[in-house]
Amino acid sequence: MTKKQRAAECVRLLEEKYPGAVCLLESQNALQLLIATRLSAQCTDARVNMVTPGLFKRFPDVYAFASADVKEVEELIKSCGLYRTKAKSIVDMCRVIIDRFDGEVPGTLEDLVQLPGVGRKTANLVMGDIYGYPAVVADTHCIRISGRLGLCDSTDPYKVEMQLKGILNPEKSNDFCHRLVLFGREICTARSPKCDICPLFGVCAEAGKYKNNK
Ligand code: SF4
Repeated sequence: MTKKQRAAECVRLLEEKYPGAVCLLESQNALQLLIATRLSAQCTDARVNMVTPGLFKRFPDVYAFASADVKEVEELIKSCGLYRTKAKSIVDMCRVIIDRFDGEVPGTLEDLVQLPGVGRKTANLVMGDIYGYPAVVADTHCIRISGRLGLCDSTDPYKVEMQLKGILNPEKSNDFCHRLVLFGREICTARSPKCDICPLFGVCAEAGKYKNNK
């Protein structure tokens, strides 16, 4: 089985397992997704989803965020942790969006990664979920599981992104990454993969390695 064939089979099996794959962070537009993703660093998606409705009501657009008192943003996002750093980078990011991109969240990966606090992972999320481009979000679940499945041979996020882009059907890559998050939380967990109930057991390169979990 080639890597492309294995990737296609993994995509198919995860589609069966998780038919409705969506981003777990709730947002209405590109700016809200950027901010929700920034808040999700070392924080759960559930917690972020509790905080963002109030935050987006108080600051409804990029201009409101750009002119915000950082202390007020800090208060609203406090429960997400790292709130001082996150508040400053959100306000800074919005100022750059206004200064350099006329108030519109840019629509290319190259421009998105120029924004303060935005890396390739976040940029790919926006490119895929908002702008509909083929994207690979190489987050911790994606990197770990792709390695176990034998789809990638690196733990470097950029290399994983490039390797997956080389073997995944572009139309499937974005949703595949969303499904990997669900799969990584439920079955192929970091510490104790549940190979005994794994729908990908038959195509996984490391399926035999976790016999204690069978
Ligand atoms: Fe993960 Fe085990 Fe499934 Fe492989 S067989 S994907 S290691 S849970």
